[in-house]
Amino acid sequence: MGSVLTNLKPALLWHHFDEIRKIPHCSKQEALLAKYVLSIAEKNGIDSKQDTVGNIVIQKPASMGCEKAISIVIQSHLDMVCEKNADVDHDFTKDPIQVKIEGEWVTACGTTLGADNGIGMAAALAVLEDSNLRHGPLELLFTVDEESGLTGAGHLKPDFLHGRTLLNLDSEEEGSFFIGCAGGGDTELTLPIKRLASDEGEHLCVVFSGCRGGHSGIDIHTGRGNAIQLLARLLFNLKIPFNLINLEGGNKHNAIPREASATVVVPKTDVDKFKRKVKDRFQEIRFEYKTVEKEMTLNISPASRDKTPPMKPEFSELLLAILLAIPHGVLAMSQEIPDLVETSNNLAIIRTKENEVTISTSSRSSVGSALEAARTKIEAIGKLGGAQIKHLEGYPAWTPNLQSPLLNTMKTIYQKLVGKKPEVKAIHAGLECGIIGEKYPEMDMISFGPDLKHPHSPDEKVHIGSVERFWKLLVATLENLSQQQ
Ligand SMILES: [Zn+2]
Repeated sequence: MGSVLTNLKPALLWHHFDEIRKIPHCSKQEALLAKYVLSIAEKNGIDSKQDTVGNIVIQKPASMGCEKAISIVIQSHLDMVCEKNADVDHDFTKDPIQVKIEGEWVTACGTTLGADNGIGMAAALAVLEDSNLRHGPLELLFTVDEESGLTGAGHLKPDFLHGRTLLNLDSEEEGSFFIGCAGGGDTELTLPIKRLASDEGEHLCVVFSGCRGGHSGIDIHTGRGNAIQLLARLLFNLKIPFNLINLEGGNKHNAIPREASATVVVPKTDVDKFKRKVKDRFQEIRFEYKTVEKEMTLNISPASRDKTPPMKPEFSELLLAILLAIPHGVLAMSQEIPDLVETSNNLAIIRTKENEVTISTSSRSSVGSALEAARTKIEAIGKLGGAQIKHLEGYPAWTPNLQSPLLNTMKTIYQKLVGKKPEVKAIHAGLECGIIGEKYPEMDMISFGPDLKHPHSPDEKVHIGSVERFWKLLVATLENLSQQQ
């Protein structure tokens, strides 16, 4: 029985996508799909190898007459994000993804589709099986575990690949060529808390919530409120003798914090004044953010008496000062690529224990030294406040190179094929190319793909016409590169 994908073009690509969607392949569970990929190589009598973590490379020899051409790596990732709507009965460990055609798009029935990166894989397998293409020696690289931490790319051995030109098929915007990504790294500041022996006054809980949050890379330039920093702003320098007991906010290092709360002790005679001043400041903030944040809320409510005594007043003030001093948002825009955030920082999480408070930040930059500078700035702020500083292991940037020979070749091909210029972009988030570029510093890379909307969500869909044009671009690129030695 044919599936709804049977009549789509290019037939070979869609045939492989149809097979891929039937095989479970959530992140860290790629073994069955790896087996399928290897079986296609074997069926075609083509050499392949797999490393200890599961990454695969298939070595397709050059087509006749192109043996002297440069080697090209074609890369896609084996895993998909497995998300479904609550009302859908689907077991990602064994059920095939159910697909349907809606207008010009292919989508799934209440689950992620896996077009990220199933279309890329299917294109690579179609290249493998299509004997009519002209190309130099090819290495078809399939990495594991891209979606949950880029660990497949992270384990690539320096001798796994021979080519020094790489086409990454994991982008989601037809007509855009991606030539860079941000590196990133988290920094943790830990401060020993100085507390009073006892507490006097009324306990209040101050909750700042309703910020939009979002991804700390992709959404960092949108000017959304950082709940932790805004709460610190409400409380800093209030000129009322209150003390903090705790301050909590944020959940993930890569998300802009949407909510933060503080428990405070306020002298009984100052409670009304405290509430009034904090509420006045909140109204000012709401006004400032009126176009971006429409749901910001402040709630001050009585809190039950805490076992933990309040922080010393000078420590409360120091903590709030540090939270205000840590930069949040865009630190620099790229001078080369329009609208690209080059460097940013997210004040991500704060957690209070009885004896210490930990503040976590997440920095990103597409320039390695600028990333280090951003992290050093946070270290400096921490040092001024007497914090212990821990830099967690980061991931490398893929710094855009507008002089890349591959980019210039592909721009010419695209112009000929489509009749207009492609957009050249970079993204302010981590990609496998960043990691591959660190292991193979001479690798000339580009990332492109068909139009894909809402990846990682059950609304994921891929545009059918763009897949065909993506295929033509890939084929034309391989043919052009087969003339380069
Ligand atoms: Zn992907």
